[in-house]
Amino acid sequence: MSINPSERLKKLPPYLFAEIDRLKRQLIAQGRDVIDLGVGDPDLPTPPFIIEALNEAAQKPENHRYALDQGMPELRCAIAAWYEERFGVRLDPEREVLPLIGSKEGIGHIPLALVNPGDVVLVPDPGYPVYKSATWFAGGEPYLLPLLEENNFLVDFNSIDESALERAKLLFLNYPNNPTAATAGKDFFTTTVKMAREYGFVVCHDAAYTEIAFDGFSPSSFLEVDGAKEVGIEFHSLSKTFNMTGWRIGFACGNAKVLELLGKIKSNLDSGIFQAIQRAGIKALSSGREEAGKNSKIYEGRRDLLVDGLNSLGWKVSKPKATFYVWAPVPPGYTSQELATRLLKEANLVVTPGNGFGPNGEGYFRMSLTLNDQRIEEALKRIKQLHSR
Ligand SMILES: *Cc1c(COP(=O)(O)O)cnc(C)c1O
Repeated sequence: MSINPSERLKKLPPYLFAEIDRLKRQLIAQGRDVIDLGVGDPDLPTPPFIIEALNEAAQKPENHRYALDQGMPELRCAIAAWYEERFGVRLDPEREVLPLIGSKEGIGHIPLALVNPGDVVLVPDPGYPVYKSATWFAGGEPYLLPLLEENNFLVDFNSIDESALERAKLLFLNYPNNPTAATAGKDFFTTTVKMAREYGFVVCHDAAYTEIAFDGFSPSSFLEVDGAKEVGIEFHSLSKTFNMTGWRIGFACGNAKVLELLGKIKSNLDSGIFQAIQRAGIKALSSGREEAGKNSKIYEGRRDLLVDGLNSLGWKVSKPKATFYVWAPVPPGYTSQELATRLLKEANLVVTPGNGFGPNGEGYFRMSLTLNDQRIEEALKRIKQLHSR
């Protein structure tokens, strides 16, 4: 019997990081000391008080059963309280908050709730790859929105074809942005609301990095601007904020109707988040503000170390205001893949080639700040050695 992938799986593009991944595994197997600036996963541990909350909750039999699809009421209240304190936006914990098994889960499922075959979904390029694959899985057509340096990596709504705008059901946005580290202000979000109203598409703002910011900067939420709640939702994650990537907990908030539809999809696919993890999430949101601030300080120091170090070697890298990524132009004479391959082969350094995030990522590469100062210094030393060859 021959087993064939579905048409929707066949639509997925080739995985552009495959070659780098293969080479990396090969070098590690040879015993080389590979420094991985590629992964976007905090190296810092989950704070102990959150682990304690999990331990305690895990002992209780009432937490071992199926969870409520919509999340525990206490978790939804903790999310609403955190959101109001952080952004000054009031949310109805029952209708305007939906806990998720990580924000990727919600992002991956939202097109199933809103998009019909042939509908357009507006997707940033470069961008988090799930926006595109989720669109394909729902039968939609991704329309790429180039994020260009000359526009500070913001979406340029004037450049979108009128016909695409008219067919659009959904817009994905992500600020502070992965991979470009760009940030958006309230003016940009106000324009977004205006466009959404005019063309009738739903805005899904992926806000996974609002709590990782530097130099006193505090990123805005999409829901802070007038009318945002009428046109969209925002995705948040405890993953990056509290070093909880493996735990799988996040949430969506905003438009009640959109959340109801997403909830309908979810209730047919999952049965909620393990309640002990929900308890730990409540603890994180209600007493973790300081922890998030400490993390940002650590990333800020690493950012300065890496960017100042590269620039002292003549590279042209600007300092991000948020996220734990540095998005840098590839030096002349290389494609993104060629640079990544050379750094790996000749300096045992993994960086992420920008073209893996979409065609407009070509000419750039991404480095993560998720390793300690000593490793960053070692990475800089190796790049310096490359220069002197
Ligand atoms: C890490 C990341 C996510 C996913 O976070 P989870 O909550 O762990 O699923 C979503 N969007 C972007 C842009 C990310 O970088």
